[in-house]
Formats: sequence, structure tokens, C-alpha cells
Amino acid sequence: MQLQRGKIASVAAEQGVGAGIVRRVILTLIVLSTDVAWTSCLHAQGGHLTQGGLVWGRVAPDSQVTLDGEALTVQVDGTVVAGFGRDAASSAELVVSGAMPCHQILHIRPREYAVQRVEGVPRKTVRPSPEHMARIRREQILINAARARRLDRPDLMTAALAGFQWPAIGPISGVYGSQRYYNGSPGRPHYGVDVAMPTGTPVVAPAPGVVTLAEPDLFYSGGTVFLDHGYGFSSAFLHMSQVEVTVGQELAAGDKIGEIGSTGRSTGAHLDWRMNWRDRRIDPQLLAPPMPEPVPTLSAGSGAAESSAPDVPNP
Ligand SMILES: [Zn+2]
Repeated sequence: MQLQRGKIASVAAEQGVGAGIVRRVILTLIVLSTDVAWTSCLHAQGGHLTQGGLVWGRVAPDSQVTLDGEALTVQVDGTVVAGFGRDAASSAELVVSGAMPCHQILHIRPREYAVQRVEGVPRKTVRPSPEHMARIRREQILINAARARRLDRPDLMTAALAGFQWPAIGPISGVYGSQRYYNGSPGRPHYGVDVAMPTGTPVVAPAPGVVTLAEPDLFYSGGTVFLDHGYGFSSAFLHMSQVEVTVGQELAAGDKIGEIGSTGRSTGAHLDWRMNWRDRRIDPQLLAPPMPEPVPTLSAGSGAAESSAPDVPNP
């Protein structure tokens, strides 16, 4: 069992120049210990039994598994994955039936989320006009269709669970779960991890997957790519200036997806990396290694250090 206890990193980005800056961002992220033995009911293998966390393990392949009554997919090799949303309840009942029946109450660690104030967000994205609302609805159909795709690829899932790499290396300017205020008004929480780097910085696949959405300019999220890792588990990459993949394309870890930008509802160049398991928002930082140190220095005047990532409702 490997434990990384109490490791705390702070990232602070102070205000910069121009409109569209994060006035004050003080983010504290806690790297939680990996719960290799998150349950005794099945062969637990890893993950984080916490809000925003993903856990996985194995059962006999002919078993059935539910979590709070929700059926979990048992893959051909017996792998079972479950994820917990930002505001997941503090307990959940795991039931395994089949050759080795078992049930157990899991205790989901709560988290505290930062408060972040974002100023200078273009008014049109805070209060969309009727024409923009029509566009947003059209784009939502594309997003829903991409999410509805079912990809049962145990090889992709196995590779993803073996470890993610960062899709871009740089200062972290936004973290999962923060409660955000846009131009003073409360908005949705932020669900991604933001890496602030200049426009044109390459974005690469953090793990293997199949592209299910590749759009150059969505209203909220700008240049957007979804990468499906299988069994309802996927990554999304937002606000890119360039999208260099197409739907259906299969990527290996490290393959280029596109380039960092500030497209959509964004106030500065950054990558917003998100993860979903089914309809739960997962914290990518719990699955990625610590950001390599030292992070690259930002070029003067790039504005990237002041980037922010207003949340986008859907990706
Ligand atoms: Zn973001």
C-alpha cells in the first residue's frame, strides 16, 4: 500500500493586467492518499474514496455489483469502477452478488472547496441573448450525443487506470470543485483543473482513448475535445485555440489533441481538463501525478498567469 499523506500544495495567482483577470486566486489543493484498500468486499485496486474520486477493483467476472442500488458495469476481466461527484453523500452501500456475496457501507470522505472570484467575464457569456441561447441549445445536442456513445473497451480502461499524464505542464490556476462568482454573481462550481499556459502550447492525450467530440468553437467551452476512456469514463479539454483530432480517432497517451487557447467563455489562455464517470464529475488531479516541478515560466505579457476558467455548464 502506498500512502501520500498530508501533502499540501498551494498555488496563488495574483492579479495582472487588462480586463479579464482573476482578481485574486488562492487555491489550496490537497493531494489525498490513494485508497488501495477502499473496500474488503472485492479485490480493491486503487483510487480515492472521496468526493470527486474514482475507485476500482475486481470481482469474479460473473458477479453483479451495485452501489446505492445503481448497477456497476462488471467488465470481462471482472474490473469494476465507481465514481463520486463533487457533492456525493458521505456513505454508499456496496453490494456484490454472485459466487462471493458481500455488502459493505463505504464512507466517502467529504472535501472543502475553494471560493474563487472571476471578474471581467464578457457580459454575453454571463447573460446569453436569445440568439445565443438557441446556439447553446444546438451545441448541447452535440454534447449529449457524444456523451451517449457507449465504448466498451477494457484495454482503454486498463491503460487509463494504470495512470494519467498531464495533458499540458504549467501553473495550475483553477481546481476542481471551487465555488465561483462571475462578475460578482454566483455561478456553477468549477469542475476541471486549469493549466495556465500561452496560446499555442500543445495539449496531449493524458491516457489512451477514442475522440467522441471535436468542435473548434462551442459557445461556452470554445475549442473542445472529448476523449472516451471506455465504460462511461471520459476526459474533456476546453478552450483550445486549435483542435487537431476528429471524431472516431483513437489516440495513444501523449498524442497531440490540439493547442491551448482562450476560446469560448474564458478570460485568458489556459487548458481546462475535466473528467466524467457517467454523470459524475471526477477530479482529474486525483488521477494525475503531481504537476512536475518546476513548472515552466510564463513569457512576459502572455497574460496566461491571469487566466481564469469560468465554468461552462456542460462539458
Ligand atoms: Zn476551468
